Formats: sequence, C-alpha cells, structure tokens
Amino acid sequence: MSELRSRAIGELEPSIAIVGSGPAGCYTAQMLRKRWAAAQIVVFERLPVPYGLLRYGVSPDHQGTKAVARQFDRLFTDGGVHLIGNVEVGKHVSIDQLQDAFDIVVVAAGLGADRPLPGVDGDGVYGAGQIMRWFNSHPDEHSFTPHFGATTTIIGNGNVAVDVLRLLAKHRDSFTGSDLDPQRIDQQPSRIHVVGRSSASAAKFDSVMIRELADIDDAVFDVDAVDDTGHTDKKIKAKIEALLDLTTGRAVPPTSRVHVSFHFGWTPESIESNPTGRTLSLVDTESRQASKVIETDSVVTAVGFGHGLRHEIDRTHLESNLADLDSGLLDSGLYCSGWFRRGPTGGIPANRLDAKTVCARIVADVETGAITPAKIGLQALAADLHPDTVDFAGWRRIDATEVTRPAHGRCRTKVSDIATMLDLARTVTDQRITPKHVENPTTDAVGHKEER
Ligand SMILES: Cc1cc2nc3c(=O)[nH]c(=O)nc-3n(C[C@H](O)[C@H](O)[C@H](O)COP(=O)(O)OP(=O)(O)OC[C@H]3O[C@@H](n4cnc5c(N)ncnc54)[C@H](O)[C@@H]3O)c2cc1C
Repeated sequence: MSELRSRAIGELEPSIAIVGSGPAGCYTAQMLRKRWAAAQIVVFERLPVPYGLLRYGVSPDHQGTKAVARQFDRLFTDGGVHLIGNVEVGKHVSIDQLQDAFDIVVVAAGLGADRPLPGVDGDGVYGAGQIMRWFNSHPDEHSFTPHFGATTTIIGNGNVAVDVLRLLAKHRDSFTGSDLDPQRIDQQPSRIHVVGRSSASAAKFDSVMIRELADIDDAVFDVDAVDDTGHTDKKIKAKIEALLDLTTGRAVPPTSRVHVSFHFGWTPESIESNPTGRTLSLVDTESRQASKVIETDSVVTAVGFGHGLRHEIDRTHLESNLADLDSGLLDSGLYCSGWFRRGPTGGIPANRLDAKTVCARIVADVETGAITPAKIGLQALAADLHPDTVDFAGWRRIDATEVTRPAHGRCRTKVSDIATMLDLARTVTDQRITPKHVENPTTDAVGHKEER
C-alpha cells in the first residue's frame, strides 16, 4: 500500500472518506484536494479496480471518453489521494464506522441496478445496465450469458439505448482500438427494433449518437414516425435531421447485414413467450387506442437505474432534519455526490458540477464550524479492514496486465473476475506470491500485511 499522507489530531484539515471511485467520487476528491492540500482523502471502492461507469458503463468503442481516467489517475499518483479497493461499504465497513473514523464522508456510490419495466420481464429480458456491464467485462457479469437471438428489441430512447444498439449492430470487424472482448459479439442479431414511449422530437438521445450509427454501412434503418415539422429548438432539429439522414439521407447498402427499425410513441405493455420466441405488445402512448406487436427473441430495457447503497442511506439518513440533497448534505458530516445524489441523469462532466456544489457545502460547513476536524481517518479503521484491499499500485498492476497483452486489435483486454484481479494486484514485478514472500511481509501504514 502506498505511503499514507499523514494526519495528526489537531491539524486544521479534515480527514475525508469518499465511497465510490466513479467520476463523482474522483471529481469530489479533486475539488477537496484543491481546497485542502494536506488533508487525508481516502476513496473506498467496492471493486478491486477504480472509475465506476467510466470503466463499466461507457461503451468499449468510446475510448476517447474513457481517457478521462488518465486525469483521475493523477489524483492517486500526484495528488496524495488513497484508493482502497475491494472494500464494499455497507458490507465490509459500515457508514457509521466511516463516520467514526473520518470528519467527512461523501457517498458517491452511483446507482447500481437497472430500473425494471412493469409488464416486461422474465426470460430473455435484460437490463441495459447489465448488458453494458457485460460488454465492458464487469466482474459482476462474469457468468452472465445473454441470448439475443436473431431479433432483439431495445426499449428506451436515451443514449444508453443507442450504445446497446450500436454494439449489437456494428460489424464485428469495426471494433479495432476498443477494449471490447471479441467473444461478446459472437452472436449479433440481424433484426433490431428500438421502441420509445415518446415522439422522436422528445427522445432523450443526442444527435451525435444517431449520427454515429450512420457509419454502420451494411445496416438498413427505418423509422416509423418522425414528428419533423415546426421545431425551432436547435437540439431537437439536429436530432430529427440525424434520424432522417439515417433513413432517407444515405445510400441503401446492396446487401444488408442488420436491419434496424425505430418505433416512436409506443409504450410496451406486456411480453409473452410463444413457441418460437416472444411477443412484445405495445400501445400507442398518446391515444392508448392503437396497438401493435413485435415478434422478438430478446428484449433489452434501457429505462434508467436505481437502488444500490441508496436504500441503506435513505432509511437511516434522508429523514434527518439536516438533510439537504440540493447541496449534497445527508446528515452531519455525511454528504453525497453524483448519480447517488441527483439520480441517474447526466454524463461525466455533470458529475464535476455536482462535485463543485457538494464541495462548496463541505467547505462552508468546515469554515463555519459545523464540522470541527478532529478524527484521525484511515488509521482508526485499520483493524476493521480485511487484508485483501487493493491500493492504487495494485490497480496499476492489473492495468499493466490488461494493456500489455491485449487481444488482437484491442487496446486492452480486461480481467473480468475478482480472483484474478486480486492475484494480479498482489503480484509485484510479475512474480507470483510465494511462501517466501509471505514469510517476510512488511506492514503498511494501516497495519495491513503486504507482500513485497
Ligand atoms: C451504460 C452507461 C453508459 C454511459 N456512457 C456515458 C458516456 O459515453 N459519456 C458520458 O459522459 N457519460 C456516460 N454515462 C454516464 C456516466 O457514466 C455517469 O454520469 C457517471 O458514471 C456517474 O458517476 P458516479 O460516480 O455518480 O457513479 P458510478 O460511475 O456508478 O460510480 C460509482 C462507484 O461506486 C462504487 N460503489 C458502489 N457501491 C459501493 C459501495 N457500497 N462501497 C464502495 N463502493 C461502491 C461502484 O463500484 C462505482 O465504482 C453512461 C452511463 C451508463 C449507465
């Protein structure tokens, strides 16, 4: 474990724990570090690897976006922020324990689970979050095997729905430079439906996401209804134009590999299994009079996220008289940031703004004396943490393995199981841990035995 930034009682700078190393946790650490140069800042992460949805949500073929990770790296390499991975708050340590040890605790744990779609569940129905985690080789999905079949239907009109569509529709040879595991595109459907409750003009995806689909030159697109008149809003016009360009504005390929149909203004009501697949029933969102059915083998629902650690916090802290979610305050000394605070909306930059708001509140609370820095931080937890934590150096070892021998045409081949991650994290300079190493362990600053 890296050398800990020391902190003695009596210093004016607070000790800070952040739960979650996704964009919100990292931006929050960044802002707090700017304010307090010597404060102990510790980021606890459930997985042995950092960066949350940047690693496990953002599409494997959007490496430009994933490159934000390099900026976050600097927090841990130069900024003196500590990463403690493989520690799930709520399981390995409680929020109360963190609060006893640290002056300030910020929960930036995101929102883990796919929101269910009433009436549309059962076999062959998958959440988009789970599918994107699977495409991104998330260890939670290590043994998950979706079966898309020849026809799949994506329900939802946000950017995540379009990510799933693109990954399913893009030619398997066009993922060069991505970190997509080639096995994840072994079975690609030849027919894809995309169903949205709202009209095309009200769809939530960005026009740039639709424009990107136009690059799939052996795909055919059709759109059942586009409300394309009378819009003055620039963003809506761009969206409509992008959709129309997909259908009328591009040459039809001589042979098509995949056919994609957009259905706007239809609400899914139910799904039933039949001998050859599944029947998805839709009703016209506006009139509720018209209906149609789609025969499909599988369904991916992309209708938002919820739950996770939020439940525990909701029960115990949101009812506190102090709670003020707008500023990120949950309770005295307890704050939240990112998707956990504001719900599952907004891309990565939105979490920076969020962190700014929450940090302003934290700084104000310290400056006005609502919080008096006094707690010793990580050292107080040393006896409570299990011995298999992963620090930033451990993550760097996993990272190095992933990028050193990537699969053909890939920039990285992700390790997708926790046991291997832990093994790699412990392995120094390519040497496996041997009994000899274990015999002479050194003890790090929090009292953990670490093999060097
Ligand atoms: C499929 C998908 C694709 C996306 N693509 C893009 C994109 O291309 N561009 C873009 O700008 N935005 C994208 N976003 C949005 C972006 O990912 C979010 O804005 C951002 O990740 C939210 O940050 P966060 O830190 O709040 O949550 P998260 O990124 O979810 O981070 C939360 C972290 O907390 C950890 N954690 C959870 N529970 C615990 C616990 N109990 N103890 C310790 N740690 C815990 C998690 O493991 C995770 O690392 C996408 C989102 C999704 C779902």
